[in-house]
Amino acid sequence: MRHLARKHQPGAMTHSARNDTLSAHDVTKTYGRPPALTSALAGVNLTIRPGESVAIMGPSGSGKTTLLHCLAGVLPPTTGHVLWAGKDVGAMSDGDRTRLRRSDFGFVFQSGQLLPELPAEENTALPMLLSGHARAISLQRARQWLGYLGLAGMEHRRPGELSGGQAQRVAIARALIAAPKVLFADEPTGALDQGTGHEVLQTLTHAARATGAALVVVTHDPAVAAWCSRTVHMRDGRIVESAPATSGEVPAPAAPAAGSIAPSQEVAQ
Ligand code: ADP
Repeated sequence: MRHLARKHQPGAMTHSARNDTLSAHDVTKTYGRPPALTSALAGVNLTIRPGESVAIMGPSGSGKTTLLHCLAGVLPPTTGHVLWAGKDVGAMSDGDRTRLRRSDFGFVFQSGQLLPELPAEENTALPMLLSGHARAISLQRARQWLGYLGLAGMEHRRPGELSGGQAQRVAIARALIAAPKVLFADEPTGALDQGTGHEVLQTLTHAARATGAALVVVTHDPAVAAWCSRTVHMRDGRIVESAPATSGEVPAPAAPAAGSIAPSQEVAQ
């Protein structure tokens, strides 16, 4: 098992607890049109507090991905509301919702969706480059994140030259580089073997915690509960159980600072 090692970390920024709470209120989601309607969410209430990590589990088809997408403002609920920092996400303009997803939220998917022709550092830097940051600063921050996640020396490799677990670490670095307040991950280890998957999930939960980001992760792996503060179980579009983690949370090492370009951080293997 890899462990992130605490190294000198000047001025690591964590998010203030402000009002960065994400919540679903009586959210339903129905796909299709009569007579072929599918009810994916049947009235979900859920609150994700700042810095909290929540694992969403449940059988296939129980509504996990749909809930994640509704929470992230990707899908509009059919009825009900999703609130972010006190604002109704459904009432925002498309432009505001897009900006929200770019600035406040980060995403990790099952297979990292890296751009195959770009080296790891450019894949990681993309969110900063796309939002107009200088190339040199973006790449420097990317290299810090890659070092922090155990990928020092692999900055110039393209996705095809990385293992599945390494590629997911690049995806995690990319999701965190712009300091999101909520990180969404949909079965981020679904394409990995179990051992690698556990390492990646542990990396993901620790890195999110180190930045102060809340984490919402859909997973089939019961072990993930050990690294999250809470597990929510779904069935037939409803939350049927919500339980705190049974084992203690491990304190995370400080992550690369969002507000300054600090000397490179490294991770022990
Ligand atoms: P899970 O992530 O738990 O596997 P999903 O949220 O993907 O569940 O799906 C919940 C239900 O909604 C399932 O019955 C699924 O078939 C259905 N569903 C999901 N996406 C669509 C879609 N785009 N169109 C129609 N039905 C969908």
